[in-house]
Amino acid sequence: MELIRIPVEVHSQDGYGGGTGLVVIFEPPLGRRLWKAGALFLVGVAVGTLLLPVPLIHLAGVMFFLAMSWLAVRRLFATRVLKGAHGRCPSCHQDGDYFVGFGGRRLAYPVKSSCPHCRVGLELALPATADAALGGQPRTGRA
Ligand SMILES: [Zn+2]
Repeated sequence: MELIRIPVEVHSQDGYGGGTGLVVIFEPPLGRRLWKAGALFLVGVAVGTLLLPVPLIHLAGVMFFLAMSWLAVRRLFATRVLKGAHGRCPSCHQDGDYFVGFGGRRLAYPVKSSCPHCRVGLELALPATADAALGGQPRTGRA
């Protein structure tokens, strides 16, 4: 399993920026995605079929089947999933590992998490190098 590390900027929801960190991602191969999506779909079919003969509850079975099918499709097209993240919190200036799900979350910026030390909400985003090149000021926190 080859992990890819991407440098990110860390911004806290109490207004501080300028923290740096890394997100660790994994690009699951198509076979692995097909297998996981297929497993989710089959669980949906199995539970949906079991609940089908039960009056009223069968509606929940149909909803479960549809939800599992939706998850399966998402899993199939999740070409980049988050494995972990860590960095320096811009609010309390401590290094830490950030919780980003249990290893199956699809990568989408900004990655939302929170600081394990001060509990402030954090957003991990790709560095705004394009903004800086155009003369923009990097966010360094409120005055
Ligand atoms: Zn913190």
